[in-house]
Amino acid sequence: MPGLPEVETVRRTILPHVVGRRIVRVDVRETRLRRPIAPDFAHRLVGRRIHGVARRAKYLVLDVGDGLLWIVHLGMSGRFCVGEPPGDLPHVHVVVDLEAGGRLYFRDPRRFGLMLLARDERDLGIVGVEPLEAEFSPHFLWQTTRRHRRTSIKSLLMDQRRIAGLGNIYANEALFAAGIRPTRRSGKLTRAESERLVGAVREVLERAIASRGSSLLDYRDADGNEGEFQRLLAVYERDGEPCRRCGEPIKRGVTTGRSTFYCPRCQR
Ligand code: ZN
Repeated sequence: MPGLPEVETVRRTILPHVVGRRIVRVDVRETRLRRPIAPDFAHRLVGRRIHGVARRAKYLVLDVGDGLLWIVHLGMSGRFCVGEPPGDLPHVHVVVDLEAGGRLYFRDPRRFGLMLLARDERDLGIVGVEPLEAEFSPHFLWQTTRRHRRTSIKSLLMDQRRIAGLGNIYANEALFAAGIRPTRRSGKLTRAESERLVGAVREVLERAIASRGSSLLDYRDADGNEGEFQRLLAVYERDGEPCRRCGEPIKRGVTTGRSTFYCPRCQR
């Protein structure tokens, strides 16, 4: 399932190919996604220019002018690619032609993705801050831990009402990088630790974005290919294996129903 780094990678990959270009043709081949693509989707999009590509949590938000937003969610298996889909490639549901021969296509074998037009990204109902934006600051995290003292720090990191789009892998990895035990009560975090944790979250996400980029460029390898980031994981799904820092076996537990991995010596 594409996480925040994968969606951000898609955003950065398509951005230079689409911004400033006009949409000349929209071919909807399959409307049955998680929600059906609206009958007037193609009609409303044709003739518009793409002014920007943003990301909110795991949604891509393309600004197509006059306050209209083209919103894409990759669901479980979606790909949003630049270029020509090979003729025999199955599950290509939407193909968008841009002026001067550019092309974008949406492929989604499991059809849990979404494609819609909206007037306001607030319609997406996302309230958490973006972990790669300045609003996710040491001060913000510190304040949040003060308001939720009894919640474990890992649950807090993964609470989408506070921080948008941070998945289980990245929460585990960031807590290891910051040397903080996932089960620690948020109220026990020091100011210095919240600062370290904010830096660790950004670093882990940026590293994932950097290593996923290359695998996503070639969509034929992208399916089922976990990417380089897998090899860089410090704790996630490494229970029983030696900690890369101290050699102690990594432990596994459960926090709010999700698998938690940590080094009992490095994380306190
Ligand atoms: Zn360790």
